[in-house]
Amino acid sequence: MTLSDQNDAAVYVGLDIGGTKFLVASADAQCRILDRIQEPTPQSLDDGLNALNRMIALVSKGRKITSMGAAIGGPLDWKKGIVSPLHQPEWRDVPLKTIMEERWKSPFFVDVDTNVAALGEYHFGDERAPRFLYLTLSTGMGGGFLIDGKIFRGMDGGHPEIGHQSINFQCSYPERVVCECGAGDCLEALVSGNGIRRIYEKPAEKLSQQEWEEVAYNLGQGLRNLSAVYLPDVIVLGGGVAIGGGEPLLAAAVKQMEKRLHIVPAPQVRLSRLGHDTALLGAIAIALHGLD
Ligand SMILES: [Zn+2]
Repeated sequence: MTLSDQNDAAVYVGLDIGGTKFLVASADAQCRILDRIQEPTPQSLDDGLNALNRMIALVSKGRKITSMGAAIGGPLDWKKGIVSPLHQPEWRDVPLKTIMEERWKSPFFVDVDTNVAALGEYHFGDERAPRFLYLTLSTGMGGGFLIDGKIFRGMDGGHPEIGHQSINFQCSYPERVVCECGAGDCLEALVSGNGIRRIYEKPAEKLSQQEWEEVAYNLGQGLRNLSAVYLPDVIVLGGGVAIGGGEPLLAAAVKQMEKRLHIVPAPQVRLSRLGHDTALLGAIAIALHGLD
């Protein structure tokens, strides 16, 4: 193959459309990343769409785009590609699939970031467990459950909101445990970046040892519930808070989970090996494989 053939070769594009940053990358049919760029998330919807189009043009470099995949916060309708990401207040009922397919003349797939990240682990992290649960602890908290590599969906194609399960928590400031959904005992309110800020009045990276122990205890209760209900073979934790807490957070949470998980076997629990790129890689995976 000559250099000009390579330049003409079709590319796949993946987008991780986050509340704080946009990541866009191009890849070839062998899933090799060709170009990758990152920008802060603009405030307005128009600026956001313009930024995404500019980033797509930069990574695709004029080559034909075979297909695109995107990860974005919920809620959304994955079949119609209409998105309303909770942490991007100006994005409400945006027909992202239609907008992108008309602009780029290529198929565009979009799903909840945690589902997409789970697929990133499956296709790029060599995670092949038949029942696989990915959990992200970042600004918010949620998960994606794969059965034989396929996304588990709820009623009407809905996304199970595992961050909004009630847990029996430990917290030095119980009056500050208030979830964005309105409940006062959600897992997300205790272990997400936003929840940690609200409770401890500082970001996760500034938590003391004792405060991390509370987070680990609460995460352990969530892991126990999820293990009892889903019986996953493997749970992988990703996102900034999980990566920041690292192995000590993981070990303490697993200890709590195992202490109270009876009758059903405990899953293997580990940290993501893909760092901050899990959702971006998953977006490339859905560009290549589509969604169902
Ligand atoms: Zn909630």
